[in-house]
Amino acid sequence: MPKKNKPTEKQRLTVLTLENDFRFECHKGLNCFTRCCCNITIFLTPYDILRMKNALNISSGEFLANYTVSMIGDAGLPVVMLKMKDDDRKTCPFVTRQGCTIYPDRPWSCRIYPLQPESTKITEKAGKKYYSVMNVPFCLGLEADRVLTVAEWIEEQGINVYQEMEAPFKKITTNEFLSQNKITNKKIQEMFYMACFDLDRFRRFVMESTFLERFEVEPEVLKKIKENVVELYHFALRWLEYGLLGQHVLKVKPDVMAAKKQELKIK
Ligand code: SF4
Ligand code: SF4
Repeated sequence: MPKKNKPTEKQRLTVLTLENDFRFECHKGLNCFTRCCCNITIFLTPYDILRMKNALNISSGEFLANYTVSMIGDAGLPVVMLKMKDDDRKTCPFVTRQGCTIYPDRPWSCRIYPLQPESTKITEKAGKKYYSVMNVPFCLGLEADRVLTVAEWIEEQGINVYQEMEAPFKKITTNEFLSQNKITNKKIQEMFYMACFDLDRFRRFVMESTFLERFEVEPEVLKKIKENVVELYHFALRWLEYGLLGQHVLKVKPDVMAAKKQELKIK
């Protein structure tokens, strides 16, 4: 149960561990209700897009075309952001006066707020996670009486599954090789975009191109990726690990491998 001993002002500005308290409560009726859903930049993870497009019952292609903008990030890999409405307040397309219309499937950034991660590669390697409370002057939720720990907030907001799904994606984007070798090849950027964000197109690519003639894919794996979008997502990341990082996580068919070796004159 949330505790009632309020953290001090100083504690709110400190880096928090999972066990530390912070003060927060958001609900309808507050003067600031939905004010935080305007004029913000929300980066979307692949799993955010998967959940949101399923909630809206549209394809990943439709979702990307209608609700997102993308750009190439520092490492040369595409990043995707929620496209805000073209009104004075730059309002989120999913907000109404009653609140978020996709609340059960809202993106990770909307769930974790008012916390923000403060972990570094070193702390993450050591298995430690740190957070801070964002300082948003208009947010009355930060003045609430309700006190809870970071771990309680993560549990309550359903963030654990987002973190689990993010892990294999992060493993690729934070890879040492990619950090040192900026991707500039447009075909690779397009491949990354499709595999991470446009899963319905990736599924067609697997089923309808020469993919299955080139790679060994077990029938049960094929069945799973046809039927389950989360399985498809994991398979797409394995394909990226193979293609981008040279990891042997997919098996090329022997005849294709032999032909390639002959072409490259490798014995
Ligand atoms: S309390 Fe904060 S998070 Fe909740 S609606 Fe107000 S500004 Fe947004
Ligand atoms: S997705 Fe929902 S919670 Fe997030 S900004 Fe839009 S309306 Fe607000």
